[in-house]
Amino acid sequence: MNKINYLRLSVTDRCNLNCIYCNPAEKEKFLHKSEILSYEEMARITKIFSMLGVNKVRITGGEPLIKKEIVKFVGMLRDIKAIDEISMTTNGTHLKKLAKDLKHAGLDRINISLDTLQAERFEKITGTDGFHDVWDGITASMEAGLSPTKLNVILMKGINDDEVDDFIDLTFRYPLIVRFIEYFPTNRRLKEYSGNTITNEKVKGVIINAYGELKEGRDVIGNGPARYYQVNGAVGAVGFISSFSDNFCSACNRIRIDSSGMIYPCLFTKEGYAVRHLLKENVSDEVLLQFITGVIREKPLHNKKNECEPKVEMSSVGG
Ligand code: SAM
Repeated sequence: MNKINYLRLSVTDRCNLNCIYCNPAEKEKFLHKSEILSYEEMARITKIFSMLGVNKVRITGGEPLIKKEIVKFVGMLRDIKAIDEISMTTNGTHLKKLAKDLKHAGLDRINISLDTLQAERFEKITGTDGFHDVWDGITASMEAGLSPTKLNVILMKGINDDEVDDFIDLTFRYPLIVRFIEYFPTNRRLKEYSGNTITNEKVKGVIINAYGELKEGRDVIGNGPARYYQVNGAVGAVGFISSFSDNFCSACNRIRIDSSGMIYPCLFTKEGYAVRHLLKENVSDEVLLQFITGVIREKPLHNKKNECEPKVEMSSVGG
């Protein structure tokens, strides 16, 4: 069984953007407030996970920064002794005003999703004109010392695949880690967009053609399957997450919980395991420990992405 030390915690299923490949706005139904775990419950479940070996937590969403008192929640996680590292994945639109407070509350580092460096194109991809807000958020994050600041980029054929150079150019100007994440089919848009996946092998080829060989093994703090490289002369780095073309199950150290208290041992698990009722009944730590131990055992050794219709929505479980 893989060692599970990394929890991805989705604090809301709502988002202020509607990216074409994620489409939170098209969800049939958002969770009602009463269905969402309180911060106290989320912190409690995190503590239980920490008793089972989890020492890293990533806050995600929906969009975590539109959630009220998110800074306070970061502080609550910081108070859990066994948690060594707290990170966040955000679209960055609300980051400018929050970056310093998040850092102060105990956030260590941040990943910002940004698929284009063109304001007009940003609007087409996300449905809003927030490009400059995101850019200000990225700058604020670097200034606040949320380090390293990473950008998550999904390239799609005919939509933004002409921007590889522009993203690499950022790594010469800023200590940013630009990560190309392969689009992978987990949601309603599976059929529409799966043909648009651009493999990282192809992206790497484009970079090598333009900049020469990549220096392998650049040391970047991270919890996952990304492989990091450096373009000669750059201050930042480039990472590749080949979620579509590669299978990194054997090294998978993560478990996910969404804001309603559904635990997913794998993104490709057909069903989640509901822990919400146990939290509402205020059962003892022993009962929760037993329950979560059982869920962790259900983590498959190999993902079934080619075998099952995934039920998990990226927009709720948070990547
Ligand atoms: N709102 C936050 C954000 O935008 O980063 C957190 C939630 S978002 C669902 C988390 C990450 O999942 C983003 O980096 C997004 O690009 C990625 N994502 C969403 N759908 C995806 C898909 N089908 N394949 C690969 N990554 C996906």
